[in-house]
Amino acid sequence: MAKLVPLLIVGAGPFGLAMSAHARRAGVEHVVVGKPMEFWKTHMPQHMVLRSACDWHYDPSDEDTIERYLQTKNLKPNDVEPLALEFYLGYCDWFQQKNAIETVLARVHALNLTHDASTCFEATLEDGKTMIAPKRGRRGRFSLLHERAGTVSSVVSGWPVRSYLRFCRFRSR
Ligand SMILES: Cc1cc2nc3c(=O)[nH]c(=O)nc-3n(C[C@H](O)[C@H](O)[C@H](O)COP(=O)(O)OP(=O)(O)OC[C@H]3O[C@@H](n4cnc5c(N)ncnc54)[C@H](O)[C@@H]3O)c2cc1C
Repeated sequence: MAKLVPLLIVGAGPFGLAMSAHARRAGVEHVVVGKPMEFWKTHMPQHMVLRSACDWHYDPSDEDTIERYLQTKNLKPNDVEPLALEFYLGYCDWFQQKNAIETVLARVHALNLTHDASTCFEATLEDGKTMIAPKRGRRGRFSLLHERAGTVSSVVSGWPVRSYLRFCRFRSR
């Protein structure tokens, strides 16, 4: 039987992890499907340095920033910029742990709209398990987020303007 989830986040890249942290703080039950930072771990050039600096972090609440991560290591931005891929992945691990983000280590194989009265998204995983998420959720702010499907604006509309702008700039790169 399909599992019903209030918010389904497909993919555990930077935006999936950021969304999960934000949803958790907002008290929204959710599920993240995907291997954490899979694209970055498997497809980025091994010795690359990032074009973005320490101020491009994941946290719309400005709490779990890269600067905060640096403090845990007694380092300053000048010590680590330009950021190496390995450093960035370290920040991602730290962010994930700090925000207790657990993911379902699978891929969504199919994503369809149901055609009953409540119109939901139905995600089918590789192993045939299904999850159902409402097209629009609590207070109308949350909907299923497929990272490449562009429903981001309905999710972030409740964020502070500064965070929203950063998110959009980050996304548009
Ligand atoms: C060479 C290069 C250098 C870059 N340098 C920078 C930089 O310095 N700074 C910067 O801010 N950005 C940089 N970017 C851009 C950066 O990659 C993106 O902005 C960022 O990864 C977008 O995050 P995302 O979570 O939307 O997507 P992704 O990082 O692509 O994450 C999406 C995740 O979803 C997973 N996924 C996809 N489909 C499914 C599915 N069906 N089921 C489950 N999981 C799925 C993928 O495996 C992936 O891990 C660079 C990009 C490239 C290619």
